[in-house]
Amino acid sequence: MRLYGAKKVISVTTIVWVRNDFRFHDNPALLYATQAGVALPVYIWSPEEAGDWQPGEASRWWLNHTLGRFSEALQQRGSALCLRCGDTLTQLLSVATAIGATTVAWNRRYDPIGRQCDEWVEAGLRASGIDVQTFPGNVLIEPDTISTKDSKPFQKFTPFWNKLSQSLLPTPVDSVPDRMQLPQRLPASVPLAEMTIQINRLSSAHLINFWRPGEVVALERVEEFIGSSIREYADQRDYPALAGTSRLSPHLTFGELSVRDLWQRLLNEKNAIIEIEPMTNVTGIDTFIKELAWREFAYHVLWHFPQTVDEPMNTKFRNFPWRTSKEFLEKWECGETGYPIVDAGMRELFQTGWMHNRVRMIVASFLTKDLLCNWVDGARWFWDKLVDADFANNSLGWQWCAGCGADAAPYFRIFNPTVQSRKFDATGSYLRRFLPEIDTLPVNVIHDPWQASGANRTIGNKIPGIKYPTPIVNHSDMRNIVLSIYSNT
Ligand code: FAD
Repeated sequence: MRLYGAKKVISVTTIVWVRNDFRFHDNPALLYATQAGVALPVYIWSPEEAGDWQPGEASRWWLNHTLGRFSEALQQRGSALCLRCGDTLTQLLSVATAIGATTVAWNRRYDPIGRQCDEWVEAGLRASGIDVQTFPGNVLIEPDTISTKDSKPFQKFTPFWNKLSQSLLPTPVDSVPDRMQLPQRLPASVPLAEMTIQINRLSSAHLINFWRPGEVVALERVEEFIGSSIREYADQRDYPALAGTSRLSPHLTFGELSVRDLWQRLLNEKNAIIEIEPMTNVTGIDTFIKELAWREFAYHVLWHFPQTVDEPMNTKFRNFPWRTSKEFLEKWECGETGYPIVDAGMRELFQTGWMHNRVRMIVASFLTKDLLCNWVDGARWFWDKLVDADFANNSLGWQWCAGCGADAAPYFRIFNPTVQSRKFDATGSYLRRFLPEIDTLPVNVIHDPWQASGANRTIGNKIPGIKYPTPIVNHSDMRNIVLSIYSNT
């Protein structure tokens, strides 16, 4: 365990600018401020500062709830969360003046929009005589502290993983104490309900049926997962009908969970198991650790290649002849493509704010390679609908599937949605869960219902007898077309 600011001499008043770090465990900036004296956590809602990439609908829902949980938890510690709306620098300066704060502390961000904002806010604060203290964000190792032998950024996962797994990683800091010191005079704060974080409350109200934002639930979920499903993780993680993955992604995205703490917890668990029974199979833990390393790789890539939020990493793809059709894009978004595995995935996303990783790969491959739509359009839809929407993971995932990113799938790897469906949802349970129109079909036709009916494939047709569309494109035809375009890119 490490402590920040252990050499405290005098008590100062510090604002902790909270962004995506709603936790009390391993929160370096919050710990620093509480150790330094009086601390006031401040959250500023300023979506316009994110330009084109303002938080999506599902993220806004999560944010609204996690702010509520975080604020309650602060009150239990004798503290409070100050909420403000508007220009970040103006608001921070106004709060600093109101409480006599001399320092603003925060945990660093790694996406280009967050970085740019942090830079100008830091410059503005310093220019006004306010000290700024920044700390590592929610990563295992900061992206600029790990490099290839030639001091270059990694662009392939395997060498990155080899280096990461041999590196001495920073350990989590101590948890924030149970009691925190508040400023004597509290500044004005906007009530959460008046912040209008959610544009349309009704459109995402259903998400409460699937998720419970907040650190307490996140930590419980870690224990539950490590105590049970992680053992089967390696075998089950690819099957969308099973609860085989952790579903920790939104908790990590909003920093309700520290990735350093999670990593440490996994290593401790692995060591404890091996100590008791040296021959025990720990593949589940090892595989899960490697997935967290993919997240780390995504952050590394985005830090070094910030343009990859919406530009292909592989510059050969800059002028790729995407044929984005509004009609196809909308059918994909609504889950009306006529390919059951694609449609089930898109409806899972719409209904639950999340989609299984295997299905994310299938729907992304379908959008880019079967419909020839630009991956950025898919990334933007995910950005709006995912509760775990994350710049780094989303752009890496999309570019991997489109074949234009760091360590991407080769262009000739084109998922056949029907084959994928038979392989990873053999009994059709996942399809039945999200596609009531076809839930009575027998398993031999549920993956490709049009085959059994002999329906013609004109766009917009429904298969006779069921209210499910015929495929909007023919996969084999599109495969040939896309292969010829990709091979000339
Ligand atoms: P688990 O399998 O339990 O994995 C644990 C954690 O490891 C995840 O929570 C995540 O933080 C990390 N992880 C797992 N797989 C990956 C991966 N392939 N790349 C990077 N990190 C990974 N993940 C997001 O968090 N936000 C996104 O916006 C996002 N967009 C994606 C878009 C596409 C097209 C694809 C193919 C993948 C995307 N992913 C994204 C990665 C992955 O699908 C999710 O992290 C995962 O499905 C979350 O579920 P889980 O927590 O149960 O994962």
